Amino acid sequence: MAEQTIAAIATAPGEAGIGIIRLSGNKSVEIADKLFQSPGGKTLEQGENRKLHYGHLYDPKTNQLVDEILIVKMLGPKSYTTEDIVEIHCHGGIIPVRKILQLTLANGARLAEPGEFTKRAFLNGRLDLSQAEAVMDLISAKTESVYEVSLNQLNGKISTDIQNLRNLLLKMIAHIQVSIDYPEDDIEEVTFGQLKKEGKEVLSGIEKLLGTVDTGKILRDGLKTIILGKPNVGKSSLMNAVLRENRAIVTEVAGTTRDVIEEYVNIHGIPLKIVDTAGIRNTDDLVEKIGVDRAKSLVAEADLIIAVFDQSNLLTSEDMEILELIENKKSIILLNKTDLPSQIEIDVLEKNIDHDLIFEISALNNTGLDKLENSLKEMFFEGQLNIKNDTIITNVRHKEQLRKAKHNIEEALQTIELAMPVDCIEVDLKSCWDHLGEISGETVKEDIIDRIFSEFCVGK
Ligand code: GDP
Repeated sequence: MAEQTIAAIATAPGEAGIGIIRLSGNKSVEIADKLFQSPGGKTLEQGENRKLHYGHLYDPKTNQLVDEILIVKMLGPKSYTTEDIVEIHCHGGIIPVRKILQLTLANGARLAEPGEFTKRAFLNGRLDLSQAEAVMDLISAKTESVYEVSLNQLNGKISTDIQNLRNLLLKMIAHIQVSIDYPEDDIEEVTFGQLKKEGKEVLSGIEKLLGTVDTGKILRDGLKTIILGKPNVGKSSLMNAVLRENRAIVTEVAGTTRDVIEEYVNIHGIPLKIVDTAGIRNTDDLVEKIGVDRAKSLVAEADLIIAVFDQSNLLTSEDMEILELIENKKSIILLNKTDLPSQIEIDVLEKNIDHDLIFEISALNNTGLDKLENSLKEMFFEGQLNIKNDTIITNVRHKEQLRKAKHNIEEALQTIELAMPVDCIEVDLKSCWDHLGEISGETVKEDIIDRIFSEFCVGK
């Protein structure tokens, strides 16, 4: 049975220049033609494929004008879903968009489920599952780095790596099967040595991907960063200096006592999620404002602490408290206001505290910040971060499957080591192959597919 034709609003709700209603399925053009009228009387069916056509949209029941529109058809299989797609571009108000959607539904379409367009693209073989997931990540990306990683994934970066590993496993399984089916044959004798070599290759491929998980988490969630310092040391000036140079996205998260503001800044591709900037921006002391206990728990949860001190004044007991608080945490110490005469000798400080990342800056004059930025890369990525070229795992589901696959291949290698019968090895190789296939979607179960796509937005 042919799939039903689905329809949804593809653009975000709200007021905008244009809004788009999208249809997919073999009745798309037929349904659109019930609503569409072009000035020359040409139907969409008669119109050229993949060209925008101008016209008006009417309610066929009442003959009432609904909107002035542009319409395009993209006939399958060369379309996003591989089915016939129609997009109606109308004025981007809430009412016209909704009215047009209602009309498509009244004339034979069904309302699309969340992610159903992309799900169809996956089920029809245009995208694999990791690519479909990349579509969602790309839409929800809040940082440039997640955007870059998602784009790579959409272009098949993970798919290719997974495919290569699965091919290798298949080769191993085929070798084993030949030796089981033709035990006396000398076509190609399965040597344990060869299986071991190939198994190790698979293992190192999986480990390489798993090795990017921490980076992936940072790129996905941002480094949870806190800027600590007593009042007037220059925390908000620092924040402003960093923000001036790096594009930021501000998100407001409803907190329990007040709104905590999280701000994302991107430093050399590393997203920092700076927490509690509300406290910083009020130029109040974070520790004083929220209490030492809360400050301690914030520090404990943070991935990175930037502690700011005013080097034009002597260190106080409050400063010492902060230094204590950040002991054994990933932190950077900034001595601010270097444009003023210094009261703190950096070498004395370096001798007295066990910390190797102390930098002198002037937030006011914007000097010294480059050292802060360079040290981040060293701290979290050992200086290596190549988002453009490396495959980076950001998806928790992928990570879980890779872990399981790793376990399987390790078991297989152990069995090989013990020179056990080859069919014992085959079971683990097959499981490994299956788990990797869950990432690309080749062996994935239907309920998992449904769950993945249900997290999509409607209209995608
Ligand atoms: P916060 O309370 O820690 O957020 O500190 P602010 O950023 O509000 O800065 C307090 C004061 O110090 C303001 O008057 C800033 O202009 C000044 N200030 C901040 N950074 C510098 C700096 O690098 N040099 C100088 N001379 N003044 C600074």
